[in-house]
Amino acid sequence: MLPSSATLVPDAEVSGRNILSVLGGLVSRNVATRLCEELGITEVDAEEWYSISVLGLLFNLISDELGPDVLFSLGYRMPSVGGVPPTRIRGLGSALRQFARQYADTHRGRGAGRVMVEDVGDGDFMMAGSKHYPCPFLQGYLEGLARRWGGTGRYSVVHLDEESDYRDSSDCNFRIVRQTRVI
Ligand SMILES: [Zn+2]
Repeated sequence: MLPSSATLVPDAEVSGRNILSVLGGLVSRNVATRLCEELGITEVDAEEWYSISVLGLLFNLISDELGPDVLFSLGYRMPSVGGVPPTRIRGLGSALRQFARQYADTHRGRGAGRVMVEDVGDGDFMMAGSKHYPCPFLQGYLEGLARRWGGTGRYSVVHLDEESDYRDSSDCNFRIVRQTRVI
């Protein structure tokens, strides 16, 4: 029996709040406004939901117009421009889990992807990121989180994907490695 339209899973969507966070990380307000115009969005409403395809279009535009390096620096700024709220965060593991929860809260529908975090011991973490965000953006985001919440421990963020093209459709995997001090 075919499902009725009421039970069909909607296509993936992203919260306007998330789009605003990405746009807020752009250094130039004018650039953010122009990118929105090119996407045909006159005003992003934090309480609205948008087709998740907006993210791919937005990141492609940013990469094409501002250069691929901007994706990393944009991600790096996210933890301080509204990515992860600082409340209830105790250390990097807590910040990573908050990031995963926040992703689940601001993306919905079939194919929305998810962020998974695993504590693998020795202070290290594994993270699988959503394919809707470019690898350099996620790399920057994780390095930004590690810098902000890593405390006195130093971490390196290792991108585990074979494929370096961020437009690849597979999920993105990272290992966040705690550096041991060599005496
Ligand atoms: Zn990747």
